[in-house]
Amino acid sequence: MPLTKAKGNMYDWCTHTHTHLGGVCSHKCKYCYVQAMERRFGGGRYTGELCLIEKEFDIHYGKGRTIFIEHCNDLFAKAVPDEWIERILAHTCEWPDNEYVFQTKNPARMDLFRDKMPPRRLLGVTIETADADVAIMVSKAPTPYDRYWEMKEMSNRKGERTFVTVEPILRGPAAALGGMIRDIAPEFVNIGADSKGTDLDEPTGEAVEKLIDTLRAYNVPIRKKVNLERLLA
Ligand code: SF4
Repeated sequence: MPLTKAKGNMYDWCTHTHTHLGGVCSHKCKYCYVQAMERRFGGGRYTGELCLIEKEFDIHYGKGRTIFIEHCNDLFAKAVPDEWIERILAHTCEWPDNEYVFQTKNPARMDLFRDKMPPRRLLGVTIETADADVAIMVSKAPTPYDRYWEMKEMSNRKGERTFVTVEPILRGPAAALGGMIRDIAPEFVNIGADSKGTDLDEPTGEAVEKLIDTLRAYNVPIRKKVNLERLLA
């Protein structure tokens, strides 16, 4: 996959995306848009065993871009070997005049690789709900509390620039989720809803409004995805 211009439902603040990992992400989220795409087209690059795609290391990243790395997998999932992560990060370090976006559901492992990352970076965590019982029904990723705790440490104690993604938003206590995000003190929070018609345990519009009001009260900048309108209607 060449360096690709970000499009579709991707973050509109990223200019490009790029992946080196193929195969299925081990978090196996029920709502995974990558796997939905693979099912639709009968399987492809993100089907089968996790693998490293060698030709992707030849890509020139240029400069002046905001590049989301591994948007079709979780680079810091347990199943990804250390050497693969190191090689991918080394590739980004060869092109330091860009900003790189790394997003994970396993920030504890992301933390272990910070000294191998390029200097200009923005680190993201996905927390779809504060309710662990709801989260466990849709993903094999670490619990929302674990994600929160590790990201808070990176943001507050280790001085990383961070963001939080609440997408797809799931049912759960809005006040608790708002409090977690306040503690992380991210540069912004992205909120979006499922757009693939997955049968998810979603919040009511009222609960979404409550989360938004809570975050506004804490002065957390909010970036709402258009797909959130379905729940707010
Ligand atoms: S972490 Fe991301 S890429 Fe991995 S299964 Fe979940 S949604 Fe898909």
